[in-house]
Amino acid sequence: MNSTLGYSSIAQIQEALRNNETSCLSLTQKYLKRIEEKKHLNAFLEVFIDSALAKANEVDVKLKKNKAGKLAGVVIGIKDNICYRNHKVSASSKILENFESLFSATVVERLLAEDAIIIGRLNCDEFAMGSSNENSAYGNVLNPLNEKCVPGGSSGGSAAAVAADLCHVALGSDTGGSIRQPASFCGVVGLKPTYGRVSRWGLIAYASSFDQIGPLTKNVEDAALLLEVMAGKDEYDSTASSKSVAAYSQTINSYKGKKVRIAYINDCLNNDGLNPEIKNFFSNYIEKLKVEGHTVEGVDFPYLDYLVPAYYVLTTAEASSNLSRYDGVHYGYRSPNATDLESTYKKSRSEGFGKEVKRRIMLGTFVLSSGYYDAYYSKAQKVRRILQDKTKEILSDYDFILLPSTPGTAFEFGQKSADPVAMYLEDIFTVQANLTGVPAISLPLGKHSNGMPFGVQLMANMFEEEKLLAFSNELMRN
Ligand code: GLN
Repeated sequence: MNSTLGYSSIAQIQEALRNNETSCLSLTQKYLKRIEEKKHLNAFLEVFIDSALAKANEVDVKLKKNKAGKLAGVVIGIKDNICYRNHKVSASSKILENFESLFSATVVERLLAEDAIIIGRLNCDEFAMGSSNENSAYGNVLNPLNEKCVPGGSSGGSAAAVAADLCHVALGSDTGGSIRQPASFCGVVGLKPTYGRVSRWGLIAYASSFDQIGPLTKNVEDAALLLEVMAGKDEYDSTASSKSVAAYSQTINSYKGKKVRIAYINDCLNNDGLNPEIKNFFSNYIEKLKVEGHTVEGVDFPYLDYLVPAYYVLTTAEASSNLSRYDGVHYGYRSPNATDLESTYKKSRSEGFGKEVKRRIMLGTFVLSSGYYDAYYSKAQKVRRILQDKTKEILSDYDFILLPSTPGTAFEFGQKSADPVAMYLEDIFTVQANLTGVPAISLPLGKHSNGMPFGVQLMANMFEEEKLLAFSNELMRN
């Protein structure tokens, strides 16, 4: 993907820095100007002008001394649910309006240590709940490719910002598709790492056994480099794996000419909700992969109808617990109309949370309540195990599972917001990776006759990011 600022990859930016064609300061200023020009997209909730310029100057000095890190010159936006010390973070919610973080997320620490320049925080669905960015307390984000359409969600600001070149790369978070779905809608690359590959310390929790932070980029090599910097064990997050981190950016070309075994799920491609043009694209794409010498076979996964319900039972249960901390006392918004402790809780939460967040807290509280726990929560946990076992079984026989990222292309504002079930079905192809923990990537390889892009999604086995990225790089090349 070409950049309007002239650099399509981190490698290119760094070459230009080495040749003195540009500086971090000049790059940062160009992005600041572009953000201003494209303000109407509403992708950024806040631009960190001072800290970004200060960092740019610092890195320029380091570059002169040959001491700059791996991400020198990389201007990055972060989703507004990732904490950055002494900067505001709101999860696009009124309940955290004006809240300033006292510490930085581990990913932010690691990006800064390698000299990335964090340019601002990006709009998203409130507490990362949504598929269209229409649930933000701070307004819709427009899809830069067609401003009548949603950018996807919940990392809508991140995808829009990369697609519109408001920053070179961005971070999002993915609980059920929130990196891959907006990547598909905006024509960029989106990677959800294996659960536990990247620390969640400093990520505002939605559903802790699903959430992962990941990159949205213009190409696969940039995603590999960002993952390499962010991944790895962390004493602040016991779910962050201590497995060693491969040099993803160094092995990105290791699948050149290699033949792989790919499974596609028959029911996904025969799904009624799948746009016929996308279906047709996949049939042709599978043929093309076969012609190139790969083994591509249809497999049965008879659980498609259980994915979205299991996802929504489990994630809302976790959300109802995670969001109990916003009580009008500890954090953020406190209702001015409260008169005692109970009304502080009730009024602050009623006024501070948006409609979708309230719906999910209620749903989650219901599925965890003593009378319904076994019928919903325990059952969904059992379904999750079955899904994990079946996915593992497929991936023991194949290198990758191939499927669409989304059932359609970006839809128009308002088209699905009145019907939560229609909106939830947007997640049908993405939640499998989160329910089972495996890594998944969306590659911008499809183009619909309506002019909008759509993604090709690949899943690999747990902690096989090296292979996933290297093969994705091949697919993007041809
Ligand atoms: N669209 C899904 C949801 O609304 C995914 C959200 C996410 O991945 N954060 O829950």
